[in-house]
Amino acid sequence: KPLVRFQDVHLRYGNGPDVLHQVNLTLEPGSFHFMVGPSGAGKSSLLRLMYLAHRPTTGRLSLFGRDVSQLDRKETSMLRRRIGIIFQDFRLLDHLTALENVALPLTITGMPLEKVRRNVSELLSWVGLADNLDSKPPTLSGGQQQRVAIARAVIGRPSLLLADEPTGNLDDKIAERLLFLFEELNKRGTTIVVASHNEALVNRFNHPVFKIINGEVRLIRSAPVIEQNT
Ligand code: ADP
Ligand code: ADP
Repeated sequence: KPLVRFQDVHLRYGNGPDVLHQVNLTLEPGSFHFMVGPSGAGKSSLLRLMYLAHRPTTGRLSLFGRDVSQLDRKETSMLRRRIGIIFQDFRLLDHLTALENVALPLTITGMPLEKVRRNVSELLSWVGLADNLDSKPPTLSGGQQQRVAIARAVIGRPSLLLADEPTGNLDDKIAERLLFLFEELNKRGTTIVVASHNEALVNRFNHPVFKIINGEVRLIRSAPVIEQNT
């Protein structure tokens, strides 16, 4: 069963024109897609639909097999817990440490503090921040802050991870390393969508690519070719 399904979805803000026009796309569990297009193309808008921050103006959107127009408030928040999102501007809390930022989604579930600390330390070590557990975001580099944001997005083990321009302010080498991290998460079963305007970077990875052109979403590169052994 697809994790995400757009059927003839249109999105307008107020009385404006279609920002997204006649979108039909399906994301299967375990897939990894890039979403490209210049600034203003509608990438964030598409991610916000998948995160239930907006509803389609017309058309049908299903997440985890549920039609989003049928969800009440409680069901919406339950569904959102299965989705991790990484914002372009990180949105970390500057007065909390890296560990505390990542721990937030767990502490509100009522998990014992010792267990929270252990889980979060493990994850932060995995993203290469073992030495920065007690650092506050303003003392970290852009790449380090981005990794804190990634850890916070995945600490709850979401089925679907949405990343909006996650490499935006990072230099090329660090950006590439971040995408390797997403690939590791994907290998462990997380479905991933990465929005980026950087097509050169995206093209170095072997994943299908959607492009938003005039509000329409098109598959411009399909699933990777499986290498044959003679
Ligand atoms: P991208 O992420 O590709 O840069 P966006 O989804 O942010 O594109 O924006 C697509 C278009 O929709 C732009 O013209 C933007 O100005 C407009 N837009 C985005 N969010 C809103 C909003 N909340 N209200 C009105 N217009 C918006
Ligand atoms: P992003 O592309 O990362 O969403 P933006 O600067 O486009 O960043 O959007 C930041 C915020 O401003 C978003 O909440 C978006 O909905 C809103 N926004 C973007 N464009 C417009 C617009 N033309 N009119 C009103 N709100 C907008």
